[in-house]
Amino acid sequence: MDGSHGELPLATTDGVITAFHHPGFAAPIGDHVMPMRKFQLVADGLAGRAGVRVEAPAPIAVELLRRVHTPAYLEAVRTGEPRALAESQKFPWSPALWPSVLLTNGGALAAATRALEAGAAAALASGFHHSHADHGEGFCTFNGLVVAAEALFAAGRVQRVAVLDLDLHYGNGTASLCTTRPWLFNCSIYGNDYWQNKPYRDVENPRHSDGPNHVSFALPNGSGRDVLFEALERGTKTILASGRPDLLLYQAGADPYREDPYSPLALDQGDLCERDRLVFAWARREGLPVAWVLAGGYTPDVSKVVAVHLGTFDAAAAVYG
Ligand SMILES: [Zn+2]
Repeated sequence: MDGSHGELPLATTDGVITAFHHPGFAAPIGDHVMPMRKFQLVADGLAGRAGVRVEAPAPIAVELLRRVHTPAYLEAVRTGEPRALAESQKFPWSPALWPSVLLTNGGALAAATRALEAGAAAALASGFHHSHADHGEGFCTFNGLVVAAEALFAAGRVQRVAVLDLDLHYGNGTASLCTTRPWLFNCSIYGNDYWQNKPYRDVENPRHSDGPNHVSFALPNGSGRDVLFEALERGTKTILASGRPDLLLYQAGADPYREDPYSPLALDQGDLCERDRLVFAWARREGLPVAWVLAGGYTPDVSKVVAVHLGTFDAAAAVYG
């Protein structure tokens, strides 16, 4: 592949956003707080929408996972042994986990690749931002954000990548993977800190440290749209100040939503849709290709989670349509 640096695509599309989805994204883990079925529900919600095309991605090549994750961890997820490591992300392991994570990570890479060509694209899977090199955490097996960034970096398609993480939870796995990747930048704006596989609503006393290429902004309990948008302003400035990225990966979490059981924030669906519009408008203004993923969302009425994710497509249509 030729290096496309210096020939960045315009932040415009052909008016159609591709959403990568595969029915196999959802590992059959039974009833679980993580509603895997939401991926399909979002795809169903997009069916027939003007300006959106749903496409199936290829599974990720295992050698691309090896660039980010340790051989022992990969083998544990593939075989189920040792079981504690295979289930470190807190899913019951089954042989169906491996093919599903190959597809979700393939979806992230397909969206990132398409974004470089078309300006914007999505994958209807999570970015799995709690996943570390040698283990999973918080329902995140392999870190699709970093796997996609690393694949494009290795292929010479990008020289710098930024992750804008607006999931409710601090993206600790992505931050840990940044420490050996100076070309990668992670900005996490969070309402729950996350440490050793546990979320903490206490954001006044962070349990993590920022680094030169991974920064975080805490949203105090009860924060509404003004506090979020002010943090977003600071976060986006920090990303550009770190060195202009060739690609933006956007972790568009639905769990900051006020009815989410984890969320101490005062954000409704309209606030989150406006959040997404601000992100896309900024990316387009700056000429940054953007690939987004769905990330968390645990509101018991899954239709409310799906509505937030569909709102991200409304926001994208408002900016790119
Ligand atoms: Zn989350």
